[in-house]
Amino acid sequence: VSTVNGVAGPIDTAQLGFTLMHEHIVLQSVGLRSNWPEVFDREFVVRRAVAKLGEAKASGVDTIVDLTTADNGRDMPLVAEIVRQAGTQVIATTGFWMQVPRYFHLRSPDVMADLFLRDIGEGIQGTGVKAGIIKAASNDREVAGPLELSFRAAARAHRRTGVPISTHTDSLQQSGLDQQRVFAEEGVDLTRVVIGHSGDTQDLDYLERLLDRGSYLGMDRFGLDHFGGQQFLTTPQRVAVIAELCRRGYADRMVLSHDASSFADHREPEYQEQTWPDWRYTHIPRDVLPALLAAGVSQAQIDRMTRHNPRAIFERQGAY
Ligand SMILES: [Zn+2]
Repeated sequence: VSTVNGVAGPIDTAQLGFTLMHEHIVLQSVGLRSNWPEVFDREFVVRRAVAKLGEAKASGVDTIVDLTTADNGRDMPLVAEIVRQAGTQVIATTGFWMQVPRYFHLRSPDVMADLFLRDIGEGIQGTGVKAGIIKAASNDREVAGPLELSFRAAARAHRRTGVPISTHTDSLQQSGLDQQRVFAEEGVDLTRVVIGHSGDTQDLDYLERLLDRGSYLGMDRFGLDHFGGQQFLTTPQRVAVIAELCRRGYADRMVLSHDASSFADHREPEYQEQTWPDWRYTHIPRDVLPALLAAGVSQAQIDRMTRHNPRAIFERQGAY
């Protein structure tokens, strides 16, 4: 039996089922609550997250990968309580998003890798919850500065454990290509990497370059049509890109998700719901899958992207 570290304990990879590969449960501003605890209503957040995870489960979602890192305000005691109440399978992450703490800037990537390994081997924030995936993030065309340290640390922790890597990119900057370069320099098998936010572009040449080096594409921002004045893609546009890549034979290289959250302290919940009404865990099962079928994607290809590929990503483990 092959297992992956989940928030509630090891999950048999055969039981992962329908998996959303890039979501968040709770996003918090780092350092805010330790200074001004009154801005965070813990009971409200728990209640809301349990309800959102319950809706996802009722829509057919079996597993959620929570890619919330320390610099996204990762709070494992809180997530563990939410997961206990919701009963959803959740996989937690180590690694960093783009705000790599200054502690690491003048240190070796091995210092960071050792902490990632602690999250994977012993557990996160004293909870005993072990990370099942490693995150790294960059927006620019070139991976540089403190972000390069975190890519090298992610690569080293990955090679010591076999725990897969999932990235954040700005696909309009084609940042996935240089991410692959750094990983390859570190000896990473690129088929063990998900290049995230690849669904934000219609540039099929760029996407095929990533695919041809063996990585998975995260088509993982369904419902996020726009952000901060920047126009991304609508759901029909995202569906058309996936349908075309399926037609070209890449269904075994894509995973689907929303990059949504149950609660983000960056905005009021009402603001979030009015601005992005489809940015929720249930958009793919309820709306996107029928649209993919209508666009000519087969049920077998959908199963591949939502079930088989996630299982394959978590099943290949062990150091190399
Ligand atoms: Zn994310």
